[in-house]
Amino acid sequence: MSTPRRTRLWVPKHVVVTRSAAELPHTAGILARCEAAGVDDVEFLRSDRLTGLRGADERATYARAKSTLAVVVSPPSARKLQPIPPSADWRVDLARGCPAHCQYCYLAGSLGGPPVTRVYADLDTILAGTDAYVGTGAVTSGTEARGHEGTTFEASCYTDPLGIEHVTGSLAAAVTHVGTHDFGGPVQLRATTKFGAVEPLLDLPHHGRTRIRASVNADVVADRFEGGTDPVAVRLAGLGALARAGYPVGLTIAPIMPVDGWRERYTALLADAAAELDGVPGLDLTVECITHRFTPGSKEVLEGWYPRTKLEMDPERRSRKHGRFGAVKYVYPAAEMAEMRTWFTAALTDLLPAGRLLYWT
Ligand code: SF4
Repeated sequence: MSTPRRTRLWVPKHVVVTRSAAELPHTAGILARCEAAGVDDVEFLRSDRLTGLRGADERATYARAKSTLAVVVSPPSARKLQPIPPSADWRVDLARGCPAHCQYCYLAGSLGGPPVTRVYADLDTILAGTDAYVGTGAVTSGTEARGHEGTTFEASCYTDPLGIEHVTGSLAAAVTHVGTHDFGGPVQLRATTKFGAVEPLLDLPHHGRTRIRASVNADVVADRFEGGTDPVAVRLAGLGALARAGYPVGLTIAPIMPVDGWRERYTALLADAAAELDGVPGLDLTVECITHRFTPGSKEVLEGWYPRTKLEMDPERRSRKHGRFGAVKYVYPAAEMAEMRTWFTAALTDLLPAGRLLYWT
């Protein structure tokens, strides 16, 4: 395995704070972190409307938004938690948006407007709000395979919480809250990341109640399509450190693509993960496999953001599937999907026998 390079820490060029967010205690912590990171452009808005995010054209708007951190109060819709199958009983959002530049980004089809990263300043309220959901889930709760996890909360549906942790502190606060709060029943917080700066998490009182997964891919996919993230070796090194600090950990292998030489490339990935986690006492490892998919909406947004992308998003080469609420998505054809699934299931058993495969999708 190659020596991991240093983690890449995003420093926003601009920070904007909405009026309602300005007075909240978490905002002071965020601003102190931004100052320590070298941010000198902080603007306090007079209202709660985010302005000044658009540039002269789509390219400039994208660049401006991706270099901006907005400190806002979460909308009421974010505090009304939604089920998030197959990952978790409930989705809990600490932020919305991500500064990285993945050319297949999952957020492209689901978040409208310029892709600014909004961190929620009302973190205490968001975390306190999870109490009401304990014991109520139906995605993982009550299932034979995962019921033992307790009520599960997924924190990385709309952001990469570790990628912005050094300027927010939100993930550490959530891990500490879940690790120490009396929920009246078992609970697990979940987060997945394409970053490796895990040091601030290592000594937290997590009490085994947070599972952090590294989102990983074959070298060629990560190198070509995952701009602004940490190299896979750095993510795996972070995962190893978390596992040695007693965290339950996982691999999110996503988005799986049948690129040239995919069997050899994914074999190398699994071997690297196995080497990183080798010898961890009491290792609790899960694996989630997600194949590449896109929707008509995400394709349009991504082609606007990355006009020269080499990412295959050809509806003619895909099968149409209807997702929740009847939305169309394009996935790999059944035969290709079955071939990959069979291969991954066998390869995981062979190379990472400690890992429990939670789902393939
Ligand atoms: S790290 Fe995740 S959320 Fe961020 S750009 Fe990449 S796919 Fe999107």
